[in-house]
Amino acid sequence: MRITVLAGGVGGARFVRGLREEVRRRSEAGGAEASVDVVVNTGDDLWLAGVRLMPDFDSLLYALAGVNDTERGWGRAGESERVAAELREWGVGWPWFTLGDLDLGTHLARTSWLREGLTPTEVGERLQRRWPLGVTLRPATDTEVDTQVEVVDDSSGAGGASAGRRTMHFQEWWTRYRAAIPAVAFHQPGIEQARPAPGVAEAIRGADVVLLAPSNPVVSIGTILAIPGMREALRETAASVVGVSPIIGGRVVRGMADACLSAIGVDTDADAVARHYGSRVTGGILDGWLVDDADAAAAEALGTDAIVAAAAPLWMHDLDTSAALAGAALDLAAVVGAQGR
Ligand code: GDP
Ligand code: CA
Repeated sequence: MRITVLAGGVGGARFVRGLREEVRRRSEAGGAEASVDVVVNTGDDLWLAGVRLMPDFDSLLYALAGVNDTERGWGRAGESERVAAELREWGVGWPWFTLGDLDLGTHLARTSWLREGLTPTEVGERLQRRWPLGVTLRPATDTEVDTQVEVVDDSSGAGGASAGRRTMHFQEWWTRYRAAIPAVAFHQPGIEQARPAPGVAEAIRGADVVLLAPSNPVVSIGTILAIPGMREALRETAASVVGVSPIIGGRVVRGMADACLSAIGVDTDADAVARHYGSRVTGGILDGWLVDDADAAAAEALGTDAIVAAAAPLWMHDLDTSAALAGAALDLAAVVGAQGR
């Protein structure tokens, strides 16, 4: 069986760790072997201090390799920040965006290989050779299309309708301002020119099951979907496409995805996110949608939108709860598949 996952950073990493474990358990119990491809959001990527950062890719890489810092929630376990302190002294980079020393090693290696002419996909292959992840990570696209956030700028003090607009890199809005400045829109300049990276559309079209991790629907999954050719691959694949809700009981589980949803006019609500993705029957991307038990009753209404809903515990506290969640997503995909979608 071939499973392809669309994923962002932290929610994506927790989910893929659980999926890898669930796949291993099922095959040990006599089930079919499965391979897992992960299509990783590249919208958060950026050039900073002369190096190329791919935060979501590295979150997945480190978490799956077991070398991530689980306390801070980003970077490598046990790293110091001596280089970051020096960069701050030199006024290079962003003082509010700390790069740990081991993490910087990754960025230097990546940048060096990019300079030699490797593509981000080829760089990703090299990075994955170091650790046997048991899954294949693929940047969604090899084209640089970093997300820009358009915000209301009332620094003039005028406020209201007369306030101006300005744009900043997604990382500045997210990390420096903690998404507290109201966003009006998200842009990926040049996205029309982008294509799915080599192997990505094939991984979607050739899959038996496609899963949307419980990642940010706007700036993680939404950015992947905005790459020309991606929606077509999802619409045309013979696989069942099942999404997992990042929203439980009307709240984001971790992080600030609600600030992104409100910017695009979608309620912070499991059903609203499913309707935003839409059913494949009506030109959207979903066959099935997995919600938390707390949202089970409301999700029944999704049937009228041609989306098959199921409920399971969606909190990923540890490897067991993440694996159980991945198992519930695979089970829903099987149900959807048996119904002939
Ligand atoms: P980022 O790139 O690091 O922001 O991470 P993602 O886009 O992959 O995931 C962020 C989303 O993951 C947030 O919207 C959270 O609501 C969701 N999330 C985080 N932890 C959990 C969890 O335990 N269960 C579920 N269902 N969603 C989660
Ligand atoms: Ca991210």
